[in-house]
Formats: sequence, C-alpha cells, structure tokens
Amino acid sequence: FFQRLSRPFRDHKLVILCTTVSGGGLLAYCEASEAAVVPVTEKKVVVLGTGWAGTSFLRNLDNPRYEVHVVSPRNYFAFTPLLPSVTCGTVEARSVVEPVRNIFRKKKVNIQFSEAECLKIDAANRKVFCRSNISNNLNEKEEFVVDYDYLIIAVGANVNTFNTPGVMENCHFLKEVEDAQKIRRTVIDCFERASLPSVSEEEKKRILHFAIVGGGPTGVEFAASLHDFVTEDLVKLYPGIKDLVKITLLEAGDHILGMFDKRITAFAEDKFRRDGIDVKTGSMVVKVSEKEISTKEMKNGGEIKTIPYGMAVWSTGIGTRPFIKDFMSQIGQINRRAIATDEWLRVEATSNVYALGDCATINQRKVMEDIAVIFKKADKDNSGTLTVKEFQEVLDDICERYPQVELYLKSKQLHDIADLMKESKGDVKKESIELNIEELKTALSKVDSQMKFLPATAQVASQQGTYLAKCFNRMEECEKNPEGPLRFRGEGRHRFKPFRYKHLGQFAPLGGEQTAAQLPGDWVSIGHSSQWLWYSVYASKQVSWRTRALVVSDWTRRFIFGRDSSQI
Ligand code: FAD
Repeated sequence: FFQRLSRPFRDHKLVILCTTVSGGGLLAYCEASEAAVVPVTEKKVVVLGTGWAGTSFLRNLDNPRYEVHVVSPRNYFAFTPLLPSVTCGTVEARSVVEPVRNIFRKKKVNIQFSEAECLKIDAANRKVFCRSNISNNLNEKEEFVVDYDYLIIAVGANVNTFNTPGVMENCHFLKEVEDAQKIRRTVIDCFERASLPSVSEEEKKRILHFAIVGGGPTGVEFAASLHDFVTEDLVKLYPGIKDLVKITLLEAGDHILGMFDKRITAFAEDKFRRDGIDVKTGSMVVKVSEKEISTKEMKNGGEIKTIPYGMAVWSTGIGTRPFIKDFMSQIGQINRRAIATDEWLRVEATSNVYALGDCATINQRKVMEDIAVIFKKADKDNSGTLTVKEFQEVLDDICERYPQVELYLKSKQLHDIADLMKESKGDVKKESIELNIEELKTALSKVDSQMKFLPATAQVASQQGTYLAKCFNRMEECEKNPEGPLRFRGEGRHRFKPFRYKHLGQFAPLGGEQTAAQLPGDWVSIGHSSQWLWYSVYASKQVSWRTRALVVSDWTRRFIFGRDSSQI
C-alpha cells in the first residue's frame, strides 16, 4: 500500500483507519511509523545519446520510479531524414531540430540532462566517464563520472571511411546538422569562387564538379537535392557558369540504391542519366587528395582513374565510435561492427546494459546456432535433406523465434534458392523434392550477413527505443512477480516479448518532385504522388508541432520564393 502511494505521502507519518465490514465492523487503528515504511529506491538509468533511439526511449518512458540521467554532446534531437534538404536550403537547420529539454519538460519522470560526451564505460563498476562539451574560462572541459543501475547505449555511429587515404581531410560528411550547414556553405562558395574573373576555365570546371561517394539512400538523395538546387535556383543567379556544373555519383557496387527493389534502382539510374547526373557504378574510391579523387574501375580490370573535383561528399555507411570499440573489447566483443545484443536488446556478457539504434546489432552467431538446431530437429530421419514442406516449417519456426529477421528470412532470395534447387531436380512433384540442409544453411547465412538482420535506420532505432521504454515501464511490476504473466514467459526466456521490428516501408527522393516509395508487401510507387506521400509522412513524423509547422512553412516558402543562396 505504501509503495503505491505517491511520493509526498510516502515521506510522512500516516495514520490509517482500517475498517473491515466482515466480522461485525471491527475498527482498527494503526499508526505507521516511518521505520515501517519501506523506502522505495529509485533506479538510476543513464541514457547515452539523444538521437532517434535515445529520444524515442525517453519520450515513451512513463514510470516515475526511475531517476534518469541523459548524457549527449548535443542538446537537441535532429530529424536526420531531412538533412539532405538542409544542404540545399530547402529546409532550414533550425526546422529539423528540437531541444531535448523541450521533450523532457512534458514528462512525469525525473530526467537530468548533461551536455557532454561519454568517454568510457566501466561495465564492471557500473560507471560512465564523461566530459562536458562546454569549455570553462581556462578553456578546460569538466569531466565527471555517473553511476548507473541500468545503462542505455544509444550513441549511433561514426562515418565509415574504410581507411581510404585523404577522406577525413578532404571530404564532407552528411551525418550531423553542422555537416549539412557546412555543405550548403561550400556549395555556394564553389559558385562564388568559380565566378571570380581571375579563375581559368579549366579551374572553374574543377571547382564546379561535385562528387558524391556512395550510392545508398543518403548519397542518392543528396545528389538529387543538389541537382534541384543547381537547376532550379543557382543557374538563374550564376548564368555565366551554369554550363560548367557537373554532379558525379560514384558507387563501388553494380547499382545505386542496392537495398531497394530492382524497379526503383532502374528508375533512379535512368532518371539521373536523363538529368545529367553522371552515375559511375563499379567505381571504388581508393584515395582522395585536395583536388582529385582516385578510383579503381572494377569494370575495367581495376584501372586507376583520377577525377578533379571541387567538393566531395562521402556517404558510404557507418562505423563504430572509438569508446564503443573500447567497451566492446572490455566485454569480449572484439572485431565486431556494432555491440551484440540479444533479442531483448540486452548487451551480451553484461548485466543491466542495453544497446539500441545504429550502435547495436542482434547477435548473429547465436541466431545461426539456433537456426542450425532447428534444422537438425526438422531432419527427423537424419538424411541431411528436407522436403519443401519441412523447409517451410523450418522457416516458420525461425521466424517465430526471431521475429525481427522475418522480413529477410522470408525474402525472395531464400525462395529463389529453393526454386533453383527444385528445378535442378527435374520435373518432380513439389512436395517430394528434397532440399540439401547444408546448402540451405549457407543460403540463410548469406541472407543474414548481407542484411545484418536490421538495417541502420531511424525506423529501427525509434521502434527499439519505444520497445525498451515499454519494458522499463513494466520492469518493476515484473520483478515483483517474477513468474510474470504466462504469455510473456517461455523456457529460458526473458519476461518480455522479444523486440519485433515492423517495417513500414522506405523512401528514396529522386529530385524534380519525384520520390520512389517501397512499402510493405513489396508495393512500389514512383513519381509525383509518392512525393506527396513523402511530404505527408515526414510532416507527421516530426517530434513536435513546432518543428512540424517550421518544416511545412519552409516547404511552402521554397515553392513560392525558391531556395535561399546566401552563405548564412
Ligand atoms: P543517432 O540518431 O545518430 O543519435 C546518436 C546520439 O548519440 C546523438 O545524440 C549523438 O550526439 C550522441 N552521441 C554521440 N557520441 C556520443 C558520446 N560519446 N556520448 C554520448 N552521446 C553521444 N533513416 C531512416 O529510417 N529514414 C531516412 O530517411 C533516413 N535518412 C537519413 C539521412 C541522413 C543524412 C542520415 C545521416 C541518416 C538517415 N537515416 C535515415 C538513418 C538514421 O538517421 C539513423 O539510423 C538513426 O539516426 C540512428 O539512430 P541512433 O539513435 O542510433 O543514432
């Protein structure tokens, strides 16, 4: 009873009048001494990061029994899908950020925020070592240590340069709001420099050559935004040099937007060629110097080419933050790209540490071991083969145990393999065909390694944050009743249902008011109607009405007045 009382009551002596109706109306009087009141210890939760995962966790945490300390080097949440729009002034930087204190203000939970970066995690002693982001008068940065009962690591990822020489020094990245602002200023700088009378024609061409490395969604969207900016706004302001502008998209693989449906890839490549964006596939960047990019042309037997450029943007995937690498080596997770967790987002080999978002991944080795056991069980006669029906059952079993991989395991790839194997056995009845288990396992592991189980997207990070907050909201209740509601328990299982990712689709804006949308069920839509869907989804996904209003007004301003080309 006392535990349920809200805090102000718990802290005082209380006189309780108890009446029992049964037994003839006995009146009991009892005074509860302070000693009798069981003090409720608040669990300290430390959250590292205020990105998609961290913010989504904090927005959904409702249980006031936690004392939360948030540590992040930025005191705002950034809506990353709109960063490419910031690079060209379609949307202002301020419109895509929301101060985290604004988000916390509305919460019942006691949340403290420190603008600092985490330098080290000491998992053995449950401590986090941090350094403030702000320098004092002596130009020193304060350092402090925070204890935790639960640690939530949601620090995202670094850029990944694959150790390519010269990338760090000469390329722009598009990860943070500051990066987008810097790119915008550099684009305008290039146009202003190329307009100077002393610059030669050759040099003008170089300065106005914009190279984008990486044909993933971010690189493609940036190329499309830059093309729109140049053709719709800058050509009117710089008529003398407009014909010298060139945009090149360099991709090491065979196609851009490799993770999208083939129809989208083909449409994007075709549209870019029509727009005059030079898409160079099979071109791997091996070195970047101040004025030139060297590429290895895979299609021409590895020939090395050099391309002069004015501005280069590097967008080739994500890497691990140094302090996360250090933490991973402390807990024996060496040579991994991201922190391995179980299906409940708990970091393996630790207690009370959770990792989510881009810095985490679900342990694939363990999943593969489990999959091997499932295959073994299904192969009742130990023949090393399964019928198609048995294989379907295996797939269903895997998907039930690992709901988060369902999307990929049930993907066309696996079924294509099964089809191929069927064909190779000739024209036999479907059910009687036998599939080789070893080949199937290899196929599964390929799907696994290619897809990394969960993509590094805002969608995944945000769903993980919401899931974990719901677990934390119910944690205390579950600890009190360790058996828990039956439906949440299974043999050897955690008391909560495992995290289940729900894929809601993905967009690839291609410029010229056209977007490609790949929605659940492999439903593909490309064109102007999808662009309107993109506007509606991104407006609705804003974290506050303030940013929603700002973003919509920026889009309207752009429609009426065009983009602003000043360097501010
Ligand atoms: P982040 O959102 O990166 O947040 C990490 C947080 O950790 C930040 O607050 C950071 O300041 C903080 N941090 C960093 N270092 C430390 C430290 N040492 N100590 C404490 N805190 C630290 N995904 C989509 O689903 N759809 C899209 O359209 C899309 N578009 C994108 C466009 C761009 C340009 C980019 C860069 C990404 C895009 N993504 C998109 C991917 C998406 O942004 C990421 O997957 C998502 O941000 C991951 O969330 P996170 O919380 O793990 O990391």
